[in-house]
Amino acid sequence: MAHQITRDDCRARDADDPLARLRERFDLPQGVIYLDGNSLGARPRAALERAQQVVAQEWGQGLIRSWNTAGWFALPGRLGDRIAPLIGARDGEVVVTDTTSLNLFKALAGALAMQEQRDPARRVIVTERSNFPTDIYMAEGLTRWLDRGWRLHLVDNPDELDEAVNSDCAVLMLTHVNYRTGYQHDMAAVTALAHQHGALALWDLAHSAGAVPVDLHAAQADFAVGCTYKYLNGGPGAPAFIWVPQQHQAAFAHPLSGWWGHARPFDMAPAFSPADGIVRALCGTQPVLSLALVECGLEIFEETSMQALRTKSLALTDLFIELVESRCGGHPLGLVTPREHARRGSQVSFTHPHGFGVMQSLIERGVIGDYREPHIMRFGFTPLYTSYADVWDAVEQLRDILDRGDYRIDAERGAVT
Ligand SMILES: *Cc1c(COP(=O)(O)O)cnc(C)c1O
Repeated sequence: MAHQITRDDCRARDADDPLARLRERFDLPQGVIYLDGNSLGARPRAALERAQQVVAQEWGQGLIRSWNTAGWFALPGRLGDRIAPLIGARDGEVVVTDTTSLNLFKALAGALAMQEQRDPARRVIVTERSNFPTDIYMAEGLTRWLDRGWRLHLVDNPDELDEAVNSDCAVLMLTHVNYRTGYQHDMAAVTALAHQHGALALWDLAHSAGAVPVDLHAAQADFAVGCTYKYLNGGPGAPAFIWVPQQHQAAFAHPLSGWWGHARPFDMAPAFSPADGIVRALCGTQPVLSLALVECGLEIFEETSMQALRTKSLALTDLFIELVESRCGGHPLGLVTPREHARRGSQVSFTHPHGFGVMQSLIERGVIGDYREPHIMRFGFTPLYTSYADVWDAVEQLRDILDRGDYRIDAERGAVT
């Protein structure tokens, strides 16, 4: 008979875990097991001191001089260069700026404009119906307001991409790891499919950056955007990033041509002239307080590697699946996340008919995950600060709630779930 995993086994794995020391770099509340770093990453300890420094010194004392003396003006590019190694990008190809929604709009508009030059007959943007809604909404808004005959085509299943990506397709716009199911696309293979048919490939890395190894250049991707407040632990509402590879930068133009993307913003010229390089992806003045804190999360990644993080992430998600299936066996739980490692992100989703109520009970007991329609309980595993014993303890709480039926079917829903 197979050995039943025990809590002591989990503790032994923690004792051997080379990443365990990194948990100290985060300030997590006592008594909380945080399995929602896929939605809002935990706070790096360094962020508090950094916030104080930016507010008291750089703003308070430096005042407007800090745009130069504290490096505020250069922050989007400096932070972009620190994200680059996590996603297989190069120096000078990434800026941290605006929101993921806005960056997606800029990248999509830029990709469509490039295709208009090359092959104006192509008018279709292909994406998935299961994509994160804002990605679909932004594409919808773009096609409606910049009315140039573009159409949005939504596929219901990755298998349909083969047919949908054809000679009408201008841009294939996908999220690499699905927010709800944790399904991970094969970026290189899907990008190759797009290129075979003359389409450009735009990737959203919101649930990939800092979560799974990404190599944009190896995959020959064309554009990418992503989030810093999820796995990168940048802080609530921290600015997002956009990647335009060097080979596309000269041709890259987008409609949000604000003064921060101008070649010489302080000429205050009446006409727009884009800056060289990735700076042209910027729009207007950046939220310096939020931007500055992104660095505290990125510094922690520099103490390890995405390979090491991936190894632990898969071990954590494997353990969670195994324990839920062995310890909560009699309950109507359905695994939504792929078992195959190559297709799995850093989260595990299970359905339960009362998923919302069960999740509310878990949160009351200090196990914080979240809920997504329909019926999906989502558990994110951030290897930087999640231990194997955390996984054990979370599953024990889940088992106890299910065994006792201790969940509220009529739980109140907050504005954010
Ligand atoms: C989280 C997420 C976003 C968030 O976009 P915001 O502009 O930051 O609200 C966008 N796209 C995907 C795929 C996401 O997972």
